[in-house]
Amino acid sequence: MSNTSIIQCVDLQKTYAGLDVAVLNGISLEIGTGEQVAIVGTSGSGKSTLLHLLGGLDEPSAGAVTVMGKPLSTLSEAGRGELRNHALGFVYQFHHLLPEFTALENVALPLMIRRLPREQALDDAARILTRVGLGHRLEHMPGELSGGERQRAAVARALVTNPRCVLADEPTGNLDRHTAEGVFDLLLELNRDQGTSLVVVTHDLELAARMQRQYRLQDGSLSPA
Ligand code: ADP
Ligand code: MG
Repeated sequence: MSNTSIIQCVDLQKTYAGLDVAVLNGISLEIGTGEQVAIVGTSGSGKSTLLHLLGGLDEPSAGAVTVMGKPLSTLSEAGRGELRNHALGFVYQFHHLLPEFTALENVALPLMIRRLPREQALDDAARILTRVGLGHRLEHMPGELSGGERQRAAVARALVTNPRCVLADEPTGNLDRHTAEGVFDLLLELNRDQGTSLVVVTHDLELAARMQRQYRLQDGSLSPA
């Protein structure tokens, strides 16, 4: 696997209006193909802010983010959205599955948004749901799944588009220890099998230690942990 840069940020700064202290104060980071990166930090240290900037969901106050060689600041909102949909997958602490759709439909949705024919989208969704161990839950509604199953469905939804990088924001923060480890194992397995880069924000040092690189976010700066 070549080590091409998937996401790169240089001297990233973020200050929110009304806050006098910068949340991020000069963050530089490069994520290569297939790499695993953990970012740990206490609540309020700016982990979600950083992940949102890396994914082009928010704009930095200063500094630059480049995704797949494209500086995000040079793209239109639509261009950023398109790059995000094609290159990135997101997993959040709360699964954000749509309650009125089945697991299968939830996972197929990102493909339908890409205008893939419905049958093909459902086929692909069924395949990845089977891959994450939910082949027997395709027609279940999110409310009929356990917490761990919902989070695995959320992982499937992030991966169904074959992204180059998955950005996960405390993906196991809501789960008990055993279930958290299962979901984490799954993320690492998919990273290894599909060469998808993986950035996981967590306050769980034990889980972070299982990834290739660890950083700590503290006082607006990132340092090797
Ligand atoms: P973490 O994910 O590490 O818990 P966040 O990135 O969510 O931290 O937040 C970092 C800091 O920025 C916190 O002090 C938070 O209150 C503040 N913050 C986050 N989002 C906003 C926002 N949209 N407007 C103002 N302040 C924000
Ligand atoms: Mg957060």
